Amino acid sequence: MYKMMTPGPTMVAESVMRARSRIFGNPDVDVSFCEEYYQICLSMAGLLHTKNSVYILNGEGILGLEAACASLTEPGDKVLVIDNGIFGKGFADFVRLYGGEPELYTVDYRKPVEVSVLRDFLQKHHDYKYATVVHCDTPSGVLNAIDEICPLLKSYGIITVVDSVAAMFGEELLVDKWQIDIACGGSQKALSAPPGLTFVSVSEEAKEVMRKRNTPIASFYCNLLMFERYYEDKWFPYTMPVSDIYGLAEAVRLVQEDKERIQRHQQIAKAVRKAVTSAGLSLYLQDGFASTVTVVEVPEGVLVQNLIDVMLDKYQILISGCFDILDGKVFRLGHMGNNANIGDVGEMLSALTKTLRELGFGCRCDMESVFLQELA
Ligand SMILES: *Cc1c(COP(=O)(O)O)cnc(C)c1O
Repeated sequence: MYKMMTPGPTMVAESVMRARSRIFGNPDVDVSFCEEYYQICLSMAGLLHTKNSVYILNGEGILGLEAACASLTEPGDKVLVIDNGIFGKGFADFVRLYGGEPELYTVDYRKPVEVSVLRDFLQKHHDYKYATVVHCDTPSGVLNAIDEICPLLKSYGIITVVDSVAAMFGEELLVDKWQIDIACGGSQKALSAPPGLTFVSVSEEAKEVMRKRNTPIASFYCNLLMFERYYEDKWFPYTMPVSDIYGLAEAVRLVQEDKERIQRHQQIAKAVRKAVTSAGLSLYLQDGFASTVTVVEVPEGVLVQNLIDVMLDKYQILISGCFDILDGKVFRLGHMGNNANIGDVGEMLSALTKTLRELGFGCRCDMESVFLQELA
């Protein structure tokens, strides 16, 4: 098997795979499962520094984003879609699907959202029911200042929806302090469980907005209110994917134990950037680098698919290209969750150096050596 150094899915610990193979009972009938689910949600809420409800939903990260929009949007609602990346812009589609009117706030994709500019914009335009913003927009690797953006939006009474799928557990995320009404995460990113689950934290205010709708939520599966009383009623809207959740529980436990996690992500990301730029490669971003992924411009004369193929065939390391407007222009090095360790990242950089040289790009240094020096 190859090393999966992509910005999600990430490599999964043995103990998570073992937990997934545990014998299971009927999660609809056996109330002990409901208790277990509840305890995992509480552990996640602890990691996210929130008193809000956390729900684990049976679907990949996209389900969380769609569920937030489905549950909040009523026909005609105006929604501010903060767009400085591909996922950022993508929220507009979910808003439209549920009859809302997205207003795109589009800014430079190579930088984080400038809070002072957003502040000026909001002074004149603030008549929105809710706003969406991405924490780490994975295709570019930009990290937005959610700690400033959400309190600013809330000062105008705007509900905040944050896609933190690629940041949660690899970056600091203080849901209550930062006033995030709905924060979305996914199992296959920095939590390092297999793909298949999404989790959302939902504030009391967001729930109140959902309860007070004039029109019903136009979905069953994406209706977050369905989970509102699951614990009291010992009832889930659909049969929970019990094995996935056992795996998740173990992944959450590993994250709880790993006290150096955020700092390690930061150190590794910084050393990767140093290695890549020392080799003569260019980073896609000007600033606002996330600690979970590094996005590098494909050098002249190199085809990204060749780069990925040689890395995989010759060195058994899988890195990622990109999609949409960045298709063919950048490649992405994932270092989130279990992948954020010196050994694997070093090996990836060593293989990358050799591969680029084979493909005709003269790396000015061995990236692994620079990476290790930086961390020494
Ligand atoms: C991974 C990811 C998602 C989930 O989407 P998939 O492409 O289906 O994995 C959502 N938002 C962000 C920012 C992500 O990185």
